[in-house]
Amino acid sequence: MNAIPTLLNRKPLPESLLLALGQLLGTRLSTSASVREHHGSDISSLGPVPPDAVAFVESLEEIISVSSLCHAHDVPMIPYGSGTSLEGWLQAVQGGVCIDVSGMNQIIHIRPDDMDVTVQPGVTRKQLNAALHGTGLFFPIDPGADASLGGMASTRASGTNAVRYGTMRENVLGMTAVLADGRVIQTGGRARKSSAGYDLTHLLVGSGGTLATFAELTVKLHPLPEAVSAAICTFPSVDQAVQAVIQTIQLGVPIARIELIDALTVRAINAYSKTSLREAPSLFFELHGSESGVKEQIETVRLVADEHGGQDFEWAVNPEDRTRLWQARHDAYFASVALRPGCRSLTTDSVVPISRLAECIEA
Ligand SMILES: Cc1cc2nc3c(=O)[nH]c(=O)nc-3n(C[C@H](O)[C@H](O)[C@H](O)COP(=O)(O)OP(=O)(O)OC[C@H]3O[C@@H](n4cnc5c(N)ncnc54)[C@H](O)[C@@H]3O)c2cc1C
Repeated sequence: MNAIPTLLNRKPLPESLLLALGQLLGTRLSTSASVREHHGSDISSLGPVPPDAVAFVESLEEIISVSSLCHAHDVPMIPYGSGTSLEGWLQAVQGGVCIDVSGMNQIIHIRPDDMDVTVQPGVTRKQLNAALHGTGLFFPIDPGADASLGGMASTRASGTNAVRYGTMRENVLGMTAVLADGRVIQTGGRARKSSAGYDLTHLLVGSGGTLATFAELTVKLHPLPEAVSAAICTFPSVDQAVQAVIQTIQLGVPIARIELIDALTVRAINAYSKTSLREAPSLFFELHGSESGVKEQIETVRLVADEHGGQDFEWAVNPEDRTRLWQARHDAYFASVALRPGCRSLTTDSVVPISRLAECIEA
């Protein structure tokens, strides 16, 4: 197997490339140390590995030109959305040019009847949901941070709503992408179902900037639910909480979000977010649907939780209480890091069949 490329392979950027990029972008090309460091790091324990230059692009044409120039000089490129990824995606391990698309943040076309939207890659999920206000639709993928849609597609982001609405894989319909040599491809389309041709959209979703820079994306929108209810419930042990999750999913309850937080993390959240949650293994739930559907789901969830020793059910129906609840969950990362001042975090995903979930979490 090939070793991961190291900094030893780095070559300085050719002067001719810097000159050409400077002519193209003017002050939107930066080689300043702080800008490069910012673009080569994330908030994980992995230190910064800066690119040699950062190109702040503002159009498809500029992505094409920067990519063509880098390709002609055999120089790596690293696209950049909003820098919220956690596992070293942005490290420029072989140097090169970071293509920052955050300035490409136009919402191009909202189509309420077709329940889809076309955006530039720098549009963030909160920006999109603000623009959808009043349409009765929303974009549900919520990885916690206010990430860009290009970055979310590139990392195949999921987050707390994935149980109900899927991940970016299920929600990107098509895109315009610039390949490493500057060629442009259009993938997918706006049809919800198609078996025509290679499924290039799903090859690109999750490609982490290694196959192309996305210049435009079309994603699905979903109807805002008529009723939403959120709850916290504590359990005597992590195992009992996990058994409750497994049974809820196996019963086919169309739960929108379900998240497990152990006692130590609850303590961290209480200290960080100034909450007073009971320090025990806890499940955070959210249910979406019609008024009667949500009521029915609440009853089922409560019965399942009871069966596994669940107690202290606390429901939050109004939007402010729900936001407070989920904000505490979203702060869990920063709260955990704050448990030990001076430390940074090491995050990872573990993926197992549901039958081994309890064992995995205990381990
Ligand atoms: C507190 C916290 C909680 C989080 N929780 C979750 C979670 O539950 N689930 C989850 O999935 N993620 C989670 N994340 C991670 C993060 O939000 C995602 O990785 C996010 O999708 C990255 O988007 P970004 O715009 O910040 O991309 P960046 O960090 O800028 O880039 C990420 C990757 O995408 C590539 N990229 C960026 N833009 C483009 C583009 N236009 N074209 C091609 N490639 C591009 C980059 O090269 C890089 O490889 C969390 C992050 C934080 C800070």
